[in-house]
Amino acid sequence: MSDTLKRWGPYTNMKQLADAGPKMIARADGIYVYDNRGRQYIDGHGGLWLANVGYGRREIIDAIAQQAEALAWFPSFGGFANEPSLRLADKLVELLAPDGMAHVMFSNDGSEAVETALKIARQYWKIKGRANKHKFITRRFAYHGVTMGALSVQGVTENRMEFEPLLPGVVHVSAPYPHHCSMHPDSPICTLACARAVEEAILTQGAETVAAVIAEPIQAAGGVIIPPPDYLRQVREICRRYDVLFIADEVVTGFGRLGSWFGARHYGIQPDLMTMAKGITSGYVPLGATAVSDAVFEAFYDMAVSGPEFRHGNTYSGHPIAAAAALANIAILEREALPDHARAMGPVLQSALKNVQTRHPQWVVDANAEGLLGRLELRDPGGRLASGQIGAKIAQYMYDLGVIVRPIGDVVTFSPPLTIAEPEIQHMVAAAEEALGMVEA
Ligand code: PMP
Repeated sequence: MSDTLKRWGPYTNMKQLADAGPKMIARADGIYVYDNRGRQYIDGHGGLWLANVGYGRREIIDAIAQQAEALAWFPSFGGFANEPSLRLADKLVELLAPDGMAHVMFSNDGSEAVETALKIARQYWKIKGRANKHKFITRRFAYHGVTMGALSVQGVTENRMEFEPLLPGVVHVSAPYPHHCSMHPDSPICTLACARAVEEAILTQGAETVAAVIAEPIQAAGGVIIPPPDYLRQVREICRRYDVLFIADEVVTGFGRLGSWFGARHYGIQPDLMTMAKGITSGYVPLGATAVSDAVFEAFYDMAVSGPEFRHGNTYSGHPIAAAAALANIAILEREALPDHARAMGPVLQSALKNVQTRHPQWVVDANAEGLLGRLELRDPGGRLASGQIGAKIAQYMYDLGVIVRPIGDVVTFSPPLTIAEPEIQHMVAAAEEALGMVEA
């Protein structure tokens, strides 16, 4: 193992794991992954919030191989295009029609999809003659990626602070965090003050200076923060009222995770822009996409006749292998109705987690799931384990028990492949309970 990999291993933020050396995953099949000693694990996290159709899907592997033989790559640039990426654009536009999205632009991953959305939002207002609308409003605990723009709209302070100063004009408001509500900590009644915080930020900054609000339908990497059901609709309405674009970051929630094709649809809204990655290929190859409404696109289209186009694009935008993989992946999601399956399995995951809470009320602060995105938030009532340490401890024990999950502070998060069946969900959550017993002991 090289020193570089040891020092910069994939989980340097989880010091305990990094110190022990990375766990080597050698192969995968269905919802299971196998380490280099051949030991089997349920992948309770879908790799990193993806693997929606599961591992080892022959038709995706074949689509990748066939496309690599026919045309591994050629730029989608300077008047050139390739068929798989055009077919994928058509397919996404068809899928996203109920969400009000009508056009897509490809990139390589979620960070680039977010970066693209931020830049589209900025230029949109310039084209409209309102260049002063340049600010972005985001929420605390948001995760939007690693590039400077995406990082600037991130709400995880620790991720941002070493790189400051970042993009100016980014305002972070309270997140809808039901169990740690900073808006009315003394009252159990939710008045959706966090949605009004978005409105107040727009008013304080001046709506004439705000380009867009960006939000994940459910904040995933912040700790699977499930908002009150009406939150997103209210934020969307506020954006409309003040002529501010709304960007839904669907990098985690897209492609079925919540039991609908997209998180925006799940919460009954239509954004102006939408970002996608991860589940678009279930991780078989990297791909990102940014979708926009007709209204946003039309502004650029008019401009293209007489003024500057959108000067943005990557070498690998519209990569034919990525597009072929995405098409095969989406075909599986459709044929096997995996978003519907996630909707059916959501209550199973939710009640299994809530049962753990009922049996361990001292240890479990919150247990919840929306579709196949779940959380178990813990604290040590005896105070032996400091805040921030429990999640990693439980994840380590669960790994020993053959289940991989992702700890985020004191929250153990679940995001299994959408193909997971009820007994496997029970098995996964039983491992969490057993691990909790080991920590309690
Ligand atoms: N947005 C969200 C909501 C994400 O969760 C992530 C990654 N976890 C990103 C953007 C960035 O995606 P990537 O890691 O593919 O750049």
